[in-house]
Amino acid sequence: MTPAARQPQDARTALVLLSGGQDSSACLAWALQRYARVETVGFDYGQRHLIELDCRLTVRAELCKAFPDWAARLGADHLLDLRLLAQLSDSALISERAIEWQANGLPSTFVPGRNLLFLTFAAALAYRRGASVLVGGMCETDYSGYPDCRDNTLKAMQVALSLGLDTPMAVETPLMWLNKAQTWALTEQLGGSALTELVVEHTHTCYLGTRGVRHAWGYGCGSCPACSLRAAGFKAWAAAC
Ligand code: ZN
Repeated sequence: MTPAARQPQDARTALVLLSGGQDSSACLAWALQRYARVETVGFDYGQRHLIELDCRLTVRAELCKAFPDWAARLGADHLLDLRLLAQLSDSALISERAIEWQANGLPSTFVPGRNLLFLTFAAALAYRRGASVLVGGMCETDYSGYPDCRDNTLKAMQVALSLGLDTPMAVETPLMWLNKAQTWALTEQLGGSALTELVVEHTHTCYLGTRGVRHAWGYGCGSCPACSLRAAGFKAWAAAC
């Protein structure tokens, strides 16, 4: 029996925050192995690179092709329009500003409180869809600069959402304590080389939205902070195999 063919242990419905990147795609596989029913949500917040939004649909389609057991559990996809975020930020992801490290230690790609907003909208959607678990790829290990990715922030959100909705709303972050090499290892563990290849080929991480060059770890410019992390993690994981 392949890892993907195992029956889910948890009867709840999960809503995965799927951006189309490596981390959220690994989280989708994690949720599909664990929960009886899984739906996905994405956010259009005026990203400079819309390619990410295309990748999220491709990842879903390719997962269904490669893993029929998971296809049977994968439900609807939802895309929420959050372009109002452009009114609140001056981020390099949205405007044409260069990506740089700011004096406060955060990259200029940071949208203040973005994950808090995403989780709040996701929770409202989950409530309507009968889902009681939110799954996100937030991680302290590689992105400790983002305060809304920290474990305590997300635990506080779980409490606030559960109280505010008056129903249990779990916030699961399977990558919280993994580095990028360990995320590749988790991917392999969840779905073998078929899943690893799918993540390499079809997910998007590059901040610049470049998919012209195919590296061993996937497509991207190869030099932005996101590409550098992804490449270093892949290299460390491959070396340990
Ligand atoms: Zn890049």
